[in-house]
Amino acid sequence: MTKVIDGKAFAAKVRAEVATHVAALKEKGIVPGLAVVLVGEDPASKVYVKNKHASTVEVGMNSYEHRLDAGTSEADLLALIDRLNGDAAVHGILVQLPLPGHLNSELVINRIDPAKDVDGFHISNVGLLGTGQKSMVPCTPLGCLMMLRDHHGSLAGLNAVVVGRSNIVGKPMAQLLLGDSCTVTIAHSRTKDLEAVCRGADILVAAVGRPEMITGAFVKPGATVIDVGINRIERDGKGKIVGDVHYESAAAVAGAITPVPGGVGPMTIACLLANTLTACCRSNGLAEPKGLTA
Ligand code: NDP
Repeated sequence: MTKVIDGKAFAAKVRAEVATHVAALKEKGIVPGLAVVLVGEDPASKVYVKNKHASTVEVGMNSYEHRLDAGTSEADLLALIDRLNGDAAVHGILVQLPLPGHLNSELVINRIDPAKDVDGFHISNVGLLGTGQKSMVPCTPLGCLMMLRDHHGSLAGLNAVVVGRSNIVGKPMAQLLLGDSCTVTIAHSRTKDLEAVCRGADILVAAVGRPEMITGAFVKPGATVIDVGINRIERDGKGKIVGDVHYESAAAVAGAITPVPGGVGPMTIACLLANTLTACCRSNGLAEPKGLTA
């Protein structure tokens, strides 16, 4: 029978583990702190920032929110990041993307101290991950990796296909799977015969941004399917969130599958907290929590 990988329950477990570590740090007089910077009024970003704040407080960390006007200048934003880089109470810094068009995202992200870059988007962290060195790992792929390790134990030798080559999901996901000794294929919009490529996968990760594109015809019998997609669609006159995978047909063939919602999504914030904890431990010269990093 197909196993449904319950990301909501897994994320709750990760948050509980983080909370336990935070409580132990507090006994040493250390409180991990996460600063989130939101520029502008993007409605989806406001919801994400609110959820991040609530989750951060729930695990016992300090949450510092910085809400800036949509018209904030690059110089002012960079000056804030410089201040946060120098603030010993702040162990993680996250600048909510997308930024308003007049701000250069790359410049802003690369201004964050790499040791505090809990999104793992700084060019130094990208390079460290790519060369198999200790880094801050992007939260969504880290969450996928945790679920895969939990389900499979060792991933060594498995064929993994990642559909999508974005810098925030596809590429780091592929690097992490390679780091765990999978044989990795990265597919994208120019891939020939995508169905056949995907059918070779023991692990199929969909990060495409196209609602329900990956059907059962793409899935090898017994494969593990990780659906990163979050797509808002209209169906039967109602708004609905669906993944990049057509759940019913894929689940009929897969050995294990993540649902949407309730799969990868909840793991992303849980991994943000895990990364903040890791950053805090590293900055204090303490051992990193086991199982919460790549
Ligand atoms: P991007 O749009 O940045 O990248 C999409 C990738 O999919 C590109 O590499 C693109 O290829 C590829 N692609 C597009 N169409 C096809 C196609 N027909 N066949 C094969 N490949 C195709 O998206 P993201 O990586 O940012 O996000 C992917 C999905 O994950 C989205 O649904 C997003 O909402 C979701 N997401 C979910 C998160 C979570 O917390 N669960 C976090 C982040 C994202 P090419 O490069 O050739 O154009």
